[in-house]
Amino acid sequence: MIERLAASRCPVCGLVAAPPARWCPRHPVEMARASVAGAGEVISFTTLHSPPAGFRSPLHIALVELAGGARFICHGAETLGLRIGSRVAIEAVGDVYYFSHLGAMDRVRLFWSRAGHAGERMNAIARSLAKRAWKGRSRGEG
Ligand SMILES: [Zn+2]
Repeated sequence: MIERLAASRCPVCGLVAAPPARWCPRHPVEMARASVAGAGEVISFTTLHSPPAGFRSPLHIALVELAGGARFICHGAETLGLRIGSRVAIEAVGDVYYFSHLGAMDRVRLFWSRAGHAGERMNAIARSLAKRAWKGRSRGEG
């Protein structure tokens, strides 16, 4: 089962942003609410062996691209068997995204409910990783 994730779409250039943004990052046009299927392809992934306090080690993180082109930094229970190009399911828990091999979402749900609430710090990590992951990909934008 694949979830729908909240997103926004630019009515002018068609850019899909997720999580949803009010303004298109390309020009001052207000974006419309949209949703995207919570499944995509792994672009890159990494494992933090010394994650910040409060997180279990190792901490697995993947950069996942959806069919519409939106990219998510996701956290997951494992990267075992994960490859660049792997298809994974994405689930949003608050502002934090979790990836899982398709079909294993229930297991991940269990894992993260046990891991407890660490969303705020998780977001901070996701943002810093996103910056690193996208460095060199963007051509001086943003
Ligand atoms: Zn636009």
